[in-house]
Amino acid sequence: MKQKLIVIGAGMASGRVLEHLVEQAPEAYDITLFNGEPRGNYNRIMLSPVLSGDKTYDEIVTHDDAWYADHGITCRFGERVAGIDRAARTVTAPGGEVLSYDKLLLGTGSNPFIIPLPGHDLQGVIAYRDLEDTERMMTMDAGKRVVVIGGGLLGLEAAAGMAARGAEVTVVHIMGHLMERQLDESAGFLLRRALEDKGITVRCQANSKQILGQDGHVRALQLDDGTELPCDLLVMAVGIRPNVALGADAGLAVGRGIHVDDQMVTSDPDVLAVGECVEHDGAVFGLVAPLYDQAKVAAATLLGQQAAFVQKELSTKLKVTGCDLFSAGDFAEGEGREDIVFRDPARGVYRRLVIEKDVIVGAVMYGDTADSNWFFGLIRDKTDIAEMRDTVIFGPAFQGGAPLDPMAAVAALPRDAEICGCNGVCKGQIEDAILGGATDLGGVRAVTKASGSCGTCTGLVEQVLAVTLGDEFVIPAAQGICGCCDMTHEDVRRMIKSQRLTSMPAVWQACDWKTPDGCHVCRPALNYYLLADWPLEYADDPQSRFINERKHANIQKDGTFSVVPRMWGGITTPDELRAIADAADKYAVPTVKVTGGQRIDLLGVKGEDLPAIWKDLNDAGMVSGYAYSKGLRTVKTCVGTDHCRFGTQDSTGLGIKLEKILHGAWTPHKLKLAVSGCPRNCAEATCKDIGVVCVDSGFQVSIGGAAGMDVKETELLISVPTEQEAIDVIRAVTQLYRENARYLHRIYKWMALVGLDWIKERIEDPTERAALIERFEVSQSIYRHDPWAEHVTKQADTYQPLANLSLEAAE
Ligand SMILES: Cc1cc2nc3c(=O)[nH]c(=O)nc-3n(C[C@H](O)[C@H](O)[C@H](O)COP(=O)(O)OP(=O)(O)OC[C@H]3O[C@@H](n4cnc5c(N)ncnc54)[C@H](O)[C@@H]3O)c2cc1C
Ligand code: SF4
Repeated sequence: MKQKLIVIGAGMASGRVLEHLVEQAPEAYDITLFNGEPRGNYNRIMLSPVLSGDKTYDEIVTHDDAWYADHGITCRFGERVAGIDRAARTVTAPGGEVLSYDKLLLGTGSNPFIIPLPGHDLQGVIAYRDLEDTERMMTMDAGKRVVVIGGGLLGLEAAAGMAARGAEVTVVHIMGHLMERQLDESAGFLLRRALEDKGITVRCQANSKQILGQDGHVRALQLDDGTELPCDLLVMAVGIRPNVALGADAGLAVGRGIHVDDQMVTSDPDVLAVGECVEHDGAVFGLVAPLYDQAKVAAATLLGQQAAFVQKELSTKLKVTGCDLFSAGDFAEGEGREDIVFRDPARGVYRRLVIEKDVIVGAVMYGDTADSNWFFGLIRDKTDIAEMRDTVIFGPAFQGGAPLDPMAAVAALPRDAEICGCNGVCKGQIEDAILGGATDLGGVRAVTKASGSCGTCTGLVEQVLAVTLGDEFVIPAAQGICGCCDMTHEDVRRMIKSQRLTSMPAVWQACDWKTPDGCHVCRPALNYYLLADWPLEYADDPQSRFINERKHANIQKDGTFSVVPRMWGGITTPDELRAIADAADKYAVPTVKVTGGQRIDLLGVKGEDLPAIWKDLNDAGMVSGYAYSKGLRTVKTCVGTDHCRFGTQDSTGLGIKLEKILHGAWTPHKLKLAVSGCPRNCAEATCKDIGVVCVDSGFQVSIGGAAGMDVKETELLISVPTEQEAIDVIRAVTQLYRENARYLHRIYKWMALVGLDWIKERIEDPTERAALIERFEVSQSIYRHDPWAEHVTKQADTYQPLANLSLEAAE
């Protein structure tokens, strides 16, 4: 005869116990399942995607009515068990009905902690725990104001979800930075910035004093400095407490949680407990990974099998909607501890490793958590990292000088290496699933649940698929630099810096180029990166430049070229104009045009005439206008104080100075500047890469404008009182852009990746600004020159046709 099992709580832990039971021994128990919530098991960690609108509730249900029916489970949803009589082995349903059991399983989870602030019982003050809370938050859309108390994972998930719906959200956090238990200050800062970019207001070191109400409903939160934060909803997400009441009332041994042994048995041999409500060996639990281990053990115990729950080192891979975070181990500062820190602002990536005696004891990662499993393995296994200390921060792909094949790294993992932390799935289980017929991510997920919860291990599961299935499985790859190399621009750039690669062959070697000498896509990018990073060591490679840059003139659609002499700040003289007119006559230039950048364009010059026309223009004191380059183009100016009634500063003079300082500077993409003498902005400075508007108090420098395929207005970088400071800022920001942006990214694209705040911080810091200017000047000492003069004297013959075929025919 079947034994009677009563399960109290249809949560994530007990749900997993039921799965193991019905899978292994469907006939063993007659099961009754009580749940306080009016529904069965769902994936609680996916409530946040439901809140933000990325998923629906139906998509996160893990066991539906049909599943319970198929397995003969009697469901009593919406019924909160009132009491347990252990002597009689019965439970009492809320209506007073008494049911007997042979075995009882408690999975009552946690209660969210509500700070007993005055006003905490007002309507509109809620926690974040279940679907009801989530649905309440989902009513917060445009025009609604919300305060979230608590800058931990849950609070931020709630805040991000409601902000995504259009609510005006303020997070109030008592500590100095967000998620202080998982993140260090730097990562906390990046997280804060990312949230602020989503429109969320963050107030750290803010202490709540009382909740103010009106007609029984929350009206505002008052801080202890007197500030009032008005709100329509107040969410408290400040922690959880194991829900032990039922167990304690029944006389079970209870500490912080219900005491269980290694077999998940409580102080009563017929009562087991799993999940957040338990305390095992002094520890309580708040993440699903250990709960799933407990579930496996509890099921085995219920079936009379041997199993023991062992606590493992825990890592936290957290997904605050749209921000990837990872932390593991201990990353507090301490005697004998050293830090290795890596920041890649272009990708918004931050990594910090804490090392003690050549062993990594803690890791914090923000922005790119792809390598987190590898780091977690190093921490867990206490690996000696002395040999790879220089490159360990770059992750597994960078060990040994050349990037390891990531596939080889995955292939080398032992079968018991954990791949999916949430579901406790190891590599061996995934391999077994694949051998059993799973051929894609969905198949593996269906069998093992790997990657089915938070999803951050998806890439790793795909790699195990690829290693096991070979050519039959193609991993959706990250975008490599081009067909020659799978590494991204950022990774290649990082290698160039970290390994001091100063030539193209060195890069090809170190980054495992698939072609012997690159292609038209990667060569110009590499040429630029090397030239920007090592201006003194690296010799520019003309063969790695597009035709316009190679010829120092723009090629036109009929194969002729355009020649644009520089007119500093848009100023010219009658002599220069005469020289241009003479050149136009002499070389039969069909079109002379004034450009949008205040210069004169001689269109239709034959390739072989280029050196001669350049020489004539050089002789008249003019130099190349670089109208063809991924570098400084023009500095457009208005007339300014010299002639205009409104100008507050000498905009033309500043434009000329800037153009002289910047000319010749190679940049990731073309660089256009403008200076306007007053806010009337006649030079249209606010749609340039860098714009200066002179105002009464000085100079406003703004960046990130564009007026091409994308039209963008600049954003204010800084206001400075003097012209010299404006020049310094512009030199520094140009260098910052050169050193960090991806090739062919204009400033606005780079800015979208790194954030204006990050750029501001660098520029506002006097030490960093000075260092940037110094590096800018080092580079300009090489590149601030006139290519026309150089080509006229040294390379004029290269502009001649290869052979004069008409002469040969005549001979
Ligand atoms: C919004 C949110 C996001 C989260 N994100 C993550 C994440 O990304 N990663 C992660 O690892 N963890 C996350 N967690 C934590 C994770 O959800 C919990 O660790 C897990 O759900 C706990 O499982 P459990 O079975 O112990 O309890 P629960 O899932 O809470 O289930 C307990 C159930 O017991 C019921 N119950 C209680 N008392 C009674 C009673 N007397 N009678 C009947 N029923 C009762 C309750 O109604 C509840 O439904 C998140 C939690 C929340 C709320
Ligand atoms: S921007 Fe101001 S100073 Fe310059 S030309 Fe226009 S009105 Fe005159």
